[in-house]
Amino acid sequence: MEPGRSKAQRKAIQLMTVKNVLVVGGGITGTIASIALSQKGVKVTLIEISPQWFGVGHGITVQGNALKVLDQIGALDRLGAGFSFSGLNVYDASGAVLAETEMPHTGGQEYSSAMGILRSELQTTLVEMCHELNVEVRLDTEMVAFENHSDSVDVTFASGAVERFDIVIAADGIRSKTRALLGIHHDKKPTGLGIWRNVTKRSPEMSHASVYFNGPSYKAGFTPISETHCYAYVLTDPKRVDNGLSNAQEMKRLLEGYHGEFDFIRENISEDDYMNFQAIEWIFVDDQPWHQGRVILIGDAVHACPPLIAQGAAQCSEDALLLADYVTRDGDIETLFTEFTERRKPRIKVVVDASLQLANWELHPDTPGANPAALMASSLAELTKPA
Ligand SMILES: Cc1cc2nc3c(=O)[nH]c(=O)nc-3n(C[C@H](O)[C@H](O)[C@H](O)COP(=O)(O)OP(=O)(O)OC[C@H]3O[C@@H](n4cnc5c(N)ncnc54)[C@H](O)[C@@H]3O)c2cc1C
Repeated sequence: MEPGRSKAQRKAIQLMTVKNVLVVGGGITGTIASIALSQKGVKVTLIEISPQWFGVGHGITVQGNALKVLDQIGALDRLGAGFSFSGLNVYDASGAVLAETEMPHTGGQEYSSAMGILRSELQTTLVEMCHELNVEVRLDTEMVAFENHSDSVDVTFASGAVERFDIVIAADGIRSKTRALLGIHHDKKPTGLGIWRNVTKRSPEMSHASVYFNGPSYKAGFTPISETHCYAYVLTDPKRVDNGLSNAQEMKRLLEGYHGEFDFIRENISEDDYMNFQAIEWIFVDDQPWHQGRVILIGDAVHACPPLIAQGAAQCSEDALLLADYVTRDGDIETLFTEFTERRKPRIKVVVDASLQLANWELHPDTPGANPAALMASSLAELTKPA
């Protein structure tokens, strides 16, 4: 007798054909998939190439549709950190208010529009849940090949060991090696933009997200992540300028032309803040299947959205929860994979198209009809429909 499961749940588990799953990649997508599958009675092995869970310190905007997923797996109430908000203010770089808006509630009215949180804090909760649910976590482990059979898949690990699973869910991110193993011809592409981000102090009044347009660099903004801190960002050219400045000095330099609340941010940036620069890339596998036989790719591995409407991780978490539901249904697994993918692609296209359009308008602000604030609002409004 398995403790904690009702008679109906035990019966459902007996009927399931997928009982033993390998998840590749321990980011947001892989951990949520592992948790959701374990909660349905599936035995999950999660492999992560990194020798230790990475605790990156960036802030992240977790929008309502992702909060809903976190709630559905029981993670939301466990988050001991984060700052929920619904307001989004739009400013001119001078600090003049262009609009004070409420962000769409993409998870429904019962959730705030968004929560700002450190990625490391979100990851810690998801990893703790994986351990509590007895997910078999293997760090420093990589899948190098697989062989599909009619009712199983044999996986070869970098160690040379071969193991059999019912299916493989690969969530190994934008640099996915599994993508090529599946014969997918897409690869990540540049957007023409880079981004500087830092975690820094905020004033009590900065309790909403803000975006600043028409500055000397591209768009800048911030999101609160606690009562005292926010993460701030500024979009730039895709290469870090080689000017001998420290990261903090460079971030201050880039933010010189942004005022209003950015005066507070700029003055408080310190060398001790967590900050980094990266080029922004994207990929969307829109015209090929996401699976081959019993191996399927989800998350950034097949749709890394430029973060122009901060929906990438939200789409990843929707993938993970929905796929756990599909693969534990009765039926032919390839048909279930196809139905899942057909359901996901149109919704993700909304995010990718809007994000790429916004990136393009950043690069070409004089484009006739360019209206970033309106496009952000309309694309997020579209996502208030259920996933
Ligand atoms: C600058 C920036 C800002 C962003 N801001 C936001 C935001 O505010 N809100 C939002 O919703 N989204 C945001 N996103 C998008 C979001 O970060 C991603 O969509 C999300 O983190 C992707 O999660 P993932 O688990 O699919 O991939 P990843 O986070 O990349 O995780 C993949 C994991 O797989 C592991 N791995 C890789 N290769 C292998 C292998 N061969 N074998 C085993 N493991 C492997 C990696 O080590 C990693 O742990 C942002 C993205 C960027 C670039």
